[in-house]
Amino acid sequence: MQRKSSRSKYCMGELIEREDFSEDLAAFKFKTDQKLPFIPGQYATIGFEVNEKIVQRPYSIVSSPHEDFMEVFVELVPEGATTPLFWELKLGDSVYIRDRLVGKFVMDVDSGMTRHVMAGTVTGAAPYISIARTLKIEQEQGKANPHEILTIVGASRSWELGYYMDELNELAAQEEWFSFVPTVSRPWEDEKWEGESGRAEDVIRKYGDELGYDHTNSVVYACGHPQMIENSKAIWARARFPEERIKEEKFFVIKE
Ligand SMILES: Cc1cc2nc3c(=O)[nH]c(=O)nc-3n(C[C@H](O)[C@H](O)[C@H](O)COP(=O)(O)OP(=O)(O)OC[C@H]3O[C@@H](n4cnc5c(N)ncnc54)[C@H](O)[C@@H]3O)c2cc1C
Repeated sequence: MQRKSSRSKYCMGELIEREDFSEDLAAFKFKTDQKLPFIPGQYATIGFEVNEKIVQRPYSIVSSPHEDFMEVFVELVPEGATTPLFWELKLGDSVYIRDRLVGKFVMDVDSGMTRHVMAGTVTGAAPYISIARTLKIEQEQGKANPHEILTIVGASRSWELGYYMDELNELAAQEEWFSFVPTVSRPWEDEKWEGESGRAEDVIRKYGDELGYDHTNSVVYACGHPQMIENSKAIWARARFPEERIKEEKFFVIKE
């Protein structure tokens, strides 16, 4: 994916905050030198200069368009071309950010459905956090919100979600329109964890049914690990969700 690109397609993002949740999961906040409009759920293409070329990858945006920074939640792929460069970043360092923020994985407001089940694996929570933050901010600005959201996020261990765990739990406690189910797939490595256990796809049906999110009223979304997405799509198809109301954003492909 390395290629020489015109620098004029990029703006610069200065790292203003970084929080490491574990040795391979961290949140990064950048201050961009241009305002970049986007719809919650879209992604930024972030690049690093390597041997005079820009190596770039897409990252779903965690922050809301109403916030004055761009936040991403990144998992380190130790043998990867880009993520080890994120891990070298110190406050004040800059990255390249493509000046067009794009993507189709946004809340479906055209289907007529007002309920949304949003399932993700760890960093796959990013677009959902952006959507939820935006609805909350717009509600505070006086905008009516007809939507209800059930967000289910799977991680191996609870601390991998870092401060997003508290943010989403707090939002769920405050807002009737938002429900949050974090689930841990390695509870034996997370002894204090008292919440749900299993992978995200293991519990999407249970909570969807319990809270009344079904094929007659909802759009469903899966984001992150490709295997979770395939498993979730099959479960939702069996629950009679039509294909056009099953949305997906795969972060990578599994090599055979
Ligand atoms: C639309 C979109 C949004 C994305 N949003 C995010 C995001 O918010 N946060 C985030 O961390 N990543 C996100 N990704 C993945 C990201 O773009 C990179 O692919 C990833 O960070 C690895 O980049 P790399 O250059 O370090 O590794 P590469 O050199 O690109 O990859 C090395 C190998 O690792 C595999 N791989 C890539 N990611 C993973 C992974 N997470 N686990 C296991 N194997 C992997 C690749 O398939 C490849 O075989 C997104 C991808 C897409 C398409």
